[in-house]
Amino acid sequence: RFAATPRGPEDAILGITLAYNADPNPNKVNLGVGAYRDDAGLPVVLEAVRQAEHRILQRSLDMEYLPVAGSHTFLQRAIWLAYGDDVMQRMNGRFAGLQTLSGTGACRMAGELISRFLDIPHRTGKPLILLPDPSWLNHRPIFTDAGCKVASYSYYNPLTKSLDIDACLHSLENAPNASVVLLHACAHNPTGVDPNMDQWAAISNVMLEKSHLPLFDMAYQGFTSGDMDVDAASVRLFAEDGHKIVLAQSFSKNFGLYGQRVGCLSVMTDSEQETQAINSQLKIIARPMYSNPPIAGVRLVEEVLNCDDLQQLWRSEMKSMAHRIISMRSRLRQHLIELGNKHNWDHIVNQHGMFCFSGLSKEQVDTLRERFSVYLTANGRISMAGVTSDNVDYLADAIHHVTSS
Ligand code: PMP
Repeated sequence: RFAATPRGPEDAILGITLAYNADPNPNKVNLGVGAYRDDAGLPVVLEAVRQAEHRILQRSLDMEYLPVAGSHTFLQRAIWLAYGDDVMQRMNGRFAGLQTLSGTGACRMAGELISRFLDIPHRTGKPLILLPDPSWLNHRPIFTDAGCKVASYSYYNPLTKSLDIDACLHSLENAPNASVVLLHACAHNPTGVDPNMDQWAAISNVMLEKSHLPLFDMAYQGFTSGDMDVDAASVRLFAEDGHKIVLAQSFSKNFGLYGQRVGCLSVMTDSEQETQAINSQLKIIARPMYSNPPIAGVRLVEEVLNCDDLQQLWRSEMKSMAHRIISMRSRLRQHLIELGNKHNWDHIVNQHGMFCFSGLSKEQVDTLRERFSVYLTANGRISMAGVTSDNVDYLADAIHHVTSS
């Protein structure tokens, strides 16, 4: 019955890991997937998470269904982690939201809510979501599949390897009023380029003037600075400025819970009535898709955030993850300088978070793979989390080689 099904293309990012796994070279390096690795190149389970797991196991809890919207305690803690005490107090509970299948699920639920209910004056057809150019490769299919129209706004300048703030503001000014604008809260994927606070303020102002709706994707809170509050500054500034924010949070990276699928979608509202109406619709959207979210991962996050000792430990572990990446950035740049490479590699240290948008061409990326078994995405994105004390010299040598001919 399915004989005519056309074979679809492999996911560009996941395909890299498949090719890496099949490579017999003992020096191979996987810089494709955006998952944190320790300095031995191994996956990490945080000590705070291990201790939370232990405490939870001792309680012999049941494994009943969560409500459709997930754990209410988790929702409150997740929203607090993003917004902090001041905004929480000012909003006085006016957040709708639900526990989601991680950041991907939060984005998808946001897209579904927007495509069904976003109030735009004189709305005709699908609402428009603007993505930064470039953005995480999954954003476009997520929002298209959710029934939104997707376009992009200027963001990255490949010549300076940094933010083109003038072009960015210009394209937001020229977009139709009341567009939805997706913003990476920090540690932009794939470029590692974040606006500074003045630039965030300028973006916020243009968006207020144009009545654009900010949809923040916060998948890497903690990975830019190592500090959860510093990394939330963009979202908190927009809240101060009076935006009504839609926020997609992932706990995959900062809790190392990739396979557990822990995330949160929250929507700021103007009234209790609006909160209840949105909550009712989010449940109506979620129920036919997956009924209710998974329970194991969310218990871990709740336990860590509810216990002061675990929360403190987790915050310090988050800091170490961020700082290991920051130190690999400077070592990689330093090695390239020591090799006498003629290009400017300042962007390696100026960019933030898990990724470095190296500026390497597709041909150079191909040569890195074929000659050196170094795997990165075709757009030249390096997952800095895959760089370790053992492979940083090898990587610098390889990059020097492909950029020196
Ligand atoms: N948003 C961005 C920008 C991401 O990079 C990712 C992960 N690659 C996600 C959302 C979602 O990840 P997850 O579904 O694992 O939380």
